[in-house]
Amino acid sequence: MSKELCSVCGSREAVYFRRASGEKLCARCLERSIIKNLRRGLSRVKDLLKPKSILLYIIPPFRVIEGITILYLLDAIEKSFGSVFYALAPNTLTNVKLSPRNVYGILYYKYHSEGPCVEAKEIIDSIIAIITTHIRRLEPKPKLAITPLTLNDFAEYVLSRTIKGELPEDLGLIRVNGTILINPLINTLREDILVLAYHKGIFRYVRDFCVNYCEDYKVITELIAELCKEHHEVVYRLPRTLELIRSYVRKGAQHPSFLRLP
Ligand SMILES: [Zn+2]
Repeated sequence: MSKELCSVCGSREAVYFRRASGEKLCARCLERSIIKNLRRGLSRVKDLLKPKSILLYIIPPFRVIEGITILYLLDAIEKSFGSVFYALAPNTLTNVKLSPRNVYGILYYKYHSEGPCVEAKEIIDSIIAIITTHIRRLEPKPKLAITPLTLNDFAEYVLSRTIKGELPEDLGLIRVNGTILINPLINTLREDILVLAYHKGIFRYVRDFCVNYCEDYKVITELIAELCKEHHEVVYRLPRTLELIRSYVRKGAQHPSFLRLP
């Protein structure tokens, strides 16, 4: 049986069919494509990526595989920024070789889980809490913190908020006590990262350090995974759709009739 070639480079064997674009990618072209998205996401804060500026990268406790994979990619591109690069990792990973070349220091945070049930909003809240605690240990204080959250996290967050009748917030850029928290891969599917993790061997050596999800959260995760497979265009449009809804809500709130009681 003949091997399928990568539709981007046309020379290496394709290892991944990316449904959203119809591309068949080799591991190297998949990595390049994710790095391109990472750079594009970071371009929103390019003024903060100056030489010697302090950069904080967080591996959330429930996104360990994605976290280490993106750390690997950040490590590869970070030297072009010339910043001082710290990584924050859960203490469950103290025995895992993270081995980034340019990381100035790895700080471990203690993770106390109340239970295994964690939804996207809780992950974001725990990231904010961990950053708030640990930026105090760094002098000067980092102006920028980066997370490995993906479009799936964003979609799961939107779905769980909408079920509860709440308007989800913008996750692209969050401010935490003067530090900007950016999710540069908020437009990239988690599947892309996991396939790359598998081909880099990261998936195999860190999977035992990952925490399981509870059943309720699994339902939302699986719903989004199914939606990504069958209607990926809906998931890709979510950030823009939500931004439009927010702008209409803001407009409505300014309109006097919005405040009038029936
Ligand atoms: Zn290729």
